[in-house]
Amino acid sequence: MNKTLNSTDPLNNEVIGSVAICYEDDLKGLLQQAKQAQVEWGKKSIQQRVQLVQQAYKQLEPIQAKLAKLISREMGKDARRASYEAGGAIHSGPWLAGDSGEALRSQRQGNSEIQYRPLGVVAVISPWNYPLAMANNLIVPALIAGNSVILKPSEETPLVADLLVKTLNQSLPSGVLQIAHGDGKTGEALVKADINMVAFTGSRATGQAIMANAAPKLKRLIMELGGNDPMLVLASADIHRAAQFAVASSFENAGQMCTSTERVYVDERIADPFEQAVVAIAKNYRTGGWPEGDVDIGPLVNPRQHQKVVRHIHDAIEKGATLLLGEKSPELPFIPPTVISGIKPGMQLEDEETFGPVVAIDRFSTIEEGIHRANDSVYGLGAVVFGKADVQEVANQLQAGMIGINQGAGGTPWVGAKQSGFGYHGGAEGHRQFAQLTLINH
Ligand code: NAD
Repeated sequence: MNKTLNSTDPLNNEVIGSVAICYEDDLKGLLQQAKQAQVEWGKKSIQQRVQLVQQAYKQLEPIQAKLAKLISREMGKDARRASYEAGGAIHSGPWLAGDSGEALRSQRQGNSEIQYRPLGVVAVISPWNYPLAMANNLIVPALIAGNSVILKPSEETPLVADLLVKTLNQSLPSGVLQIAHGDGKTGEALVKADINMVAFTGSRATGQAIMANAAPKLKRLIMELGGNDPMLVLASADIHRAAQFAVASSFENAGQMCTSTERVYVDERIADPFEQAVVAIAKNYRTGGWPEGDVDIGPLVNPRQHQKVVRHIHDAIEKGATLLLGEKSPELPFIPPTVISGIKPGMQLEDEETFGPVVAIDRFSTIEEGIHRANDSVYGLGAVVFGKADVQEVANQLQAGMIGINQGAGGTPWVGAKQSGFGYHGGAEGHRQFAQLTLINH
């Protein structure tokens, strides 16, 4: 049985550190501490908890550069984006604490009082693509609601999560925030353990497994799952602006973003100039590793993800799509900026979440056809439409939790529709998910 989990740099496969794996037996100890710590933590006033969490986040400020470097090394994010993510987590933590404190205060409603009581122990299970942000968004409101938290970070990014938790724990009461390292087996054991809620961000397949394992005890769930976000480009759109967005949104974080643009449907009347503009813009994106400084597309998180993207490119070309830019079989560690035209239903690029730096395009001849293609997915996280006067009418027909008109989709609360999950990151609705709403009649 492996005792340690190694973290490797996707640039060169170098092992950069390791952590101890938490097995089912180890979990029992963590859980006992979490339950004990929650009793006192839950009795504190919301204001006290807000202050303690804000104070804990202050301690991250001096290690921003260290956190950023770990993000780059563990998952390949370029230095600029990694620094932005680390800074964002450091600044949003205290803000989120205050905001959830406001949302979780008791309220009077006529003769009734609404209290937001702690649930107990919350498992936060997070992915690797935004390893700090995705953990923070859920840890902070869970703590402010008076719960103790066990974080199960992705096995791809254990070191950055470990540094986050260790640093916050310099001032949080012992046992209130703990970490359980390991792969899906650790996650599964945690879901089945005697916890009260699972706040999960990750893939749809893992979401399905978690729901099944949480079902016997009807544990409360948040499911922030994958997406296959469409972009519609209407004939009225500003072609250059739309092309810029299509490229930036498909390539952001090397395409490894839940709201990346995964499919672009463009009105056939403007399709030729649109595709030309996309290729001209995409050509200028630079691939490279974080030590090179200002690059646009880093390596994908691991060889498995790289191979998946290559498989999707092959599948599309073999089924008749045209490679306008990029390589058919890019070798590790980079996928160069890729543009493919003529995607169709039945191709993996169209039907599945690719999670790579690919702009995948097709044309529509009627707007009804474009809307149908955009909505024809099990997912419904984000959707975007570019156009002028007709744009609102189209946006109203898109099936997604977050819709962007001439801009990206997403904000607060962060929310998915269909099989992109349920529950929220942020906002009063999001914060209150971590509490037992209790109604008392006076
Ligand atoms: P993943 O589902 O493979 O893993 C996520 C986490 O779940 C990891 O910590 C993993 O160890 C754990 N896990 C795996 N199997 C488990 C099981 N059976 N029980 C409990 N835990 C288990 O996802 P990933 O590859 O880390 O992340 C990428 C996915 O996350 C993409 O689909 C992306 O769209 C999605 N995502 C969604 C959002 C959102 O807000 N909707 C945000 C970020 C990422």
